[in-house]
Amino acid sequence: MVTADRTIALTAPTPLTDALGKGSAEAGELDALTLGRRIRQLRRQRTMTLEDLAAAVDRAPSQVSMIENGKREPRLSMLRAIALALGTSVDDLLKSDAPSERAALEIAVERAQRGPVFSALGLPRIRVSKGQSDDTLQTILALHGEIERLHGERAATPEEARRANAQLRATMRERDNHFPELEELALGLLRAVGHSGGPVSHQVVADMATHLGYSLHYVNDLPHSTRSVTDKRNGRIYLPTEQSASRDSRSPILQAFASHLCGHDEPGNYADFLRQRVETNYLTAAILLPEKDTVKLLTEAKNLRRISMEDLRDAFAVSYETAAHRFTNLATARLGIPVHFMKVHESGTIIKAYENDAVRFPSDALGAVEGTTVCRSWTARTVFDVEDRFSPWYQYTDTPAGTFWCTSRIEKAKEGDYSVSVGVPFAHVKWFRGRETTHRAVSRCPDESCCRQAPDALAERWADQSWPAARTPTSLLAALPTGTFPGVDQTEVYQFLEAHSPR
Ligand SMILES: [Zn+2]
Repeated sequence: MVTADRTIALTAPTPLTDALGKGSAEAGELDALTLGRRIRQLRRQRTMTLEDLAAAVDRAPSQVSMIENGKREPRLSMLRAIALALGTSVDDLLKSDAPSERAALEIAVERAQRGPVFSALGLPRIRVSKGQSDDTLQTILALHGEIERLHGERAATPEEARRANAQLRATMRERDNHFPELEELALGLLRAVGHSGGPVSHQVVADMATHLGYSLHYVNDLPHSTRSVTDKRNGRIYLPTEQSASRDSRSPILQAFASHLCGHDEPGNYADFLRQRVETNYLTAAILLPEKDTVKLLTEAKNLRRISMEDLRDAFAVSYETAAHRFTNLATARLGIPVHFMKVHESGTIIKAYENDAVRFPSDALGAVEGTTVCRSWTARTVFDVEDRFSPWYQYTDTPAGTFWCTSRIEKAKEGDYSVSVGVPFAHVKWFRGRETTHRAVSRCPDESCCRQAPDALAERWADQSWPAARTPTSLLAALPTGTFPGVDQTEVYQFLEAHSPR
């Protein structure tokens, strides 16, 4: 809409704006539509017809009509003649505000119709006239606004997000998923509150908030789309009174101040948003599993050849996913072990993945791994067939990229079950508990015949005789959430802050 207007608006220095000696910024506020409306309104107030005015300025009525409709910008000499004919000044004609509320509405509708979104619809234009009520014009405007919003939403395509994701994973791999500057931040904070090792308690986390100048407020009306809301002006962090069963009570507090600590600005695009999320999660994990203590525990376990994600989880009282993910931060950088990590939905879809051990994840044409389907033979899938969900699940898998050993565990979430897996190349399994497992599988993926195609005998029998209806995960079809903080209802957040803000 804006771009199309530029062709009509008096933006760049034109003979007219030059002559008036106005800067381009100021001139940019003038536009032919507003000018035309003002001329028409003044002409009607003076009960002049189009022909009267045309005669007065010695032009054809059609030319004056073009000016009034904002389709042509008059030269200064013409403008002077019009001002004279209407008994006003050039300055008055060039005022940038609409001559009336009704005119503002008409201009907005006119402008919308000239924009690319409306043009793309291929609909005939409405001629804006006195005949239409304000309500009609407002409805047209609202409809246009909504179409534009949907259009913008679609513009943030899954494709863009997948690309950003792939790039981010490449960066993480280059750095072995270890970010010393974030470890440093975590260490500084732990020191500041006098943490001397061991699990980080809820109280320690609350002390950190105080140290950073935040007070914690537990409320029962937190906006639905949020886990916490931070009032930066008053230094308050709002948290839910009711703790969700699956979530660690420390994480929401840590995540609330982690962004601030990382120095995040409002994300400018989806890639920014993803990077900030990775950093926030990293810092949160680096506080809950301090580098020094974690490396000490893992080194001891390595020496005893019994590294275990469960032990790490229990030692620091975190979720399995947090422990497994934290392991990837330190495994290569501090223990010399290349590693891969996967979070996979029960449908087989990859939600999160990281590797620097040359395991070959499935990926799409854009290099994105998230959203693709994992081989049926991989640990991340076979774990779903295991009845015993308390014991760790271990498996060796022969793949075209080599043999890997993996351990996997299922975690429950609202959206269904997920497996969280950590794996290493065969050469490094000697450091892990569970290496003695006899579970073994062969994966030939991405070879289609591995697990994407049905066995011949079955296929022959059923190929033309089945008609399944897909249960498509809604998340794959939904447009990506938009806004500065994707998925967050801004209005709800502002209203919440307004209601809770100290007077
Ligand atoms: Zn396969």
